[in-house]
Amino acid sequence: MKLIKWLRNILNYRKFNCRRRALFSLKCCLVCKKPTKRGCNCLNGSIDKGTASLGPCLAIIAVLLILIVSFQYIIQIHPHLVRETSLSTAINVTGVFLWLFVSVLFNHQSCVWISPGYAPKCTDGYSSKYQNVPDEYFKYDPELKNDETVRYCKQCQTEKPWRAHHCRVCNRCILRMDHHCPWIWNCVGFRNQRYFYMFLFYLWVGTFFFIYFGYNRLFELYKVSSCILTFLPTIFCKLEENKIVVMNDNSLSWFNGRRYNDENQWFMFCYYACCGVNAVMLTFLMWNSFLLVNNQTTLESFQNLNAEMRKTRKNKKLRHFKYLYDLGSAQLNIQQVFGSKYYLALLPICYAPIGNGLLFPLRDQVHQIVFADTTNEPPNTKHLKVVTV
Ligand SMILES: [Zn+2]
Ligand SMILES: [Zn+2]
Repeated sequence: MKLIKWLRNILNYRKFNCRRRALFSLKCCLVCKKPTKRGCNCLNGSIDKGTASLGPCLAIIAVLLILIVSFQYIIQIHPHLVRETSLSTAINVTGVFLWLFVSVLFNHQSCVWISPGYAPKCTDGYSSKYQNVPDEYFKYDPELKNDETVRYCKQCQTEKPWRAHHCRVCNRCILRMDHHCPWIWNCVGFRNQRYFYMFLFYLWVGTFFFIYFGYNRLFELYKVSSCILTFLPTIFCKLEENKIVVMNDNSLSWFNGRRYNDENQWFMFCYYACCGVNAVMLTFLMWNSFLLVNNQTTLESFQNLNAEMRKTRKNKKLRHFKYLYDLGSAQLNIQQVFGSKYYLALLPICYAPIGNGLLFPLRDQVHQIVFADTTNEPPNTKHLKVVTV
């Protein structure tokens, strides 16, 4: 019976506001055993506490994996390229790999150490620290709900800036919050989103590079022992170690003359790990590219793509707009995340995004609706663009 109730809840997830809450809710919560109408938050709270207590563990594991894969490239693929092609070709290919390695590591560490941007808590005070942003701006938030005059965070006890959301793991309101990522031990938000996107991009390119150039090395070390589905690539077949391969070649003599059987298994592990990560990154990258060109965040996309949820917007004229912050062209939208010189994101350098993260420019169509009821001088898009902190 509980299974049927659980399935029914998932099918009717809209009444629970979000699918996640529906997944973990029954009329009587399985964890705290308390009856509840809107689902129980205790399991959600446990997940958040678990994520917070994991702290830097996953971020350190991510760095270790990047280092292990890169080390395997140096001791396995580079010598193989030297043997199979020429020294100059191998050095060029390895140079590209080292560039990818530096870019992945730089963007990952930038995500970890650069703050996503926090809304000030009540003790900081908007009036002194954020003088350029009068309180009246918050009442024009396009995402206000039916019963709201400003968006207010009970935990931080302060008004939420536009597009800010409270992260229960960080316990702060995050500017232009996208999501909390345990692999970077941080939230993805206004200030570090560009590094997150470039991390996904370089990780996808880097793993593809490892898979492409490591393919021949893999079948130098291993041979196919059996294959049930012949139409699949041979890496999906059962492999066994190839005993014929001579391990002590001259190009590896600098590596203390060790035998490489154990390292072969590490190489196999790295190869399959790269295959898995590459497939996942491709999905993430496509999703994040869609968000990027439409200038929306993951959290906003849940609401934007759901007509029922859009109906809760206070301003009725805004209910048929899927993408409130879309500026009308992909280039303008990308500049909102990557800055005016967006091509610099390809280089491992840091610079601040456009604006202050509290207010955001709107395209004319939306701007006129949002500020339609202003009788005095309305804050215009140009003003929103030039506000800096
Ligand atoms: Zn908050
Ligand atoms: Zn967070």
